Amino acid sequence: MSTLEIRDLHVSVDTEDGPKEILKGVTLTIRSGETHAIMGPNGSGKSTLAYSIAGHPKYTVTSGTVTLDGDDVLAMSVDERARAGLFLAMQYPVEVPGVTVSNFLRTAKTAVTGEAPKLRTWVKDVKGAMEGLKMDSAFAERNVNEGFSGGEKKRHEILQMELLEPKFAVLDETDSGLDVDALRIVSEGVNRAKEATGSGVLLITHYTRILRYITPDHVHVFVDGAIAEQGGPELADELEANGYDRFITASA
Ligand code: ADP
Ligand code: MG
Ligand code: MG
Repeated sequence: MSTLEIRDLHVSVDTEDGPKEILKGVTLTIRSGETHAIMGPNGSGKSTLAYSIAGHPKYTVTSGTVTLDGDDVLAMSVDERARAGLFLAMQYPVEVPGVTVSNFLRTAKTAVTGEAPKLRTWVKDVKGAMEGLKMDSAFAERNVNEGFSGGEKKRHEILQMELLEPKFAVLDETDSGLDVDALRIVSEGVNRAKEATGSGVLLITHYTRILRYITPDHVHVFVDGAIAEQGGPELADELEANGYDRFITASA
């Protein structure tokens, strides 16, 4: 059982006009096996939270803490965060010239676990995970993110999650740009990974539709860099029906 704890997190981003505070005191605790949905209007700071956990250099934590089983995540390098069991889907959005998906996955697995996976079981695991995500086996020989469609990028993200078996996964807008079939396939992959590994998931999404496939235990509504409301899955249903208007009006 692991715990990812975010305490009164304040984060600023560097802009041309100087630092601008985006996160204004976010407190959130996720335990193994739990799924927390972060919802909210565009510009409310959802991705900033994800980047801050990931250690993106543009985002400066001005106060507050992020700990994983008591260890200071904010003091860790990006690699150390991965080794500690954090999976941040936005960590590898760039093209990696000349590195195939197959090699990339094996290198990432080796980096996270500290030893190269046994070839026989690894090949079987990769094949199984790719089949589960309805990915053609030829995909493994393509270069990472080179010419990937939106849907291929998302499947590749979840393929990584299934194979890297993180303690906690932060998935930012995994649903964006997916058609209904792809959304279901990707969601089933997340659910498989959760079941197999007991991962906790921080699922960041503007829209409620992915929550039909991945049921959140807790829903947090972000408005203007802070959590404006918290609830169970029924809060997502309410947002689906009524949108974010009442939050935006309230904060204006
Ligand atoms: P969300 O993911 O909820 O749409 P973001 O975290 O992307 O929100 O952005 C929150 C706010 O921070 C927005 O007003 C956005 O313009 C601002 N912001 C985020 N990143 C940067 C950046 N690198 N430079 C300037 N402003 C930024
Ligand atoms: Mg505060
Ligand atoms: Mg965002």
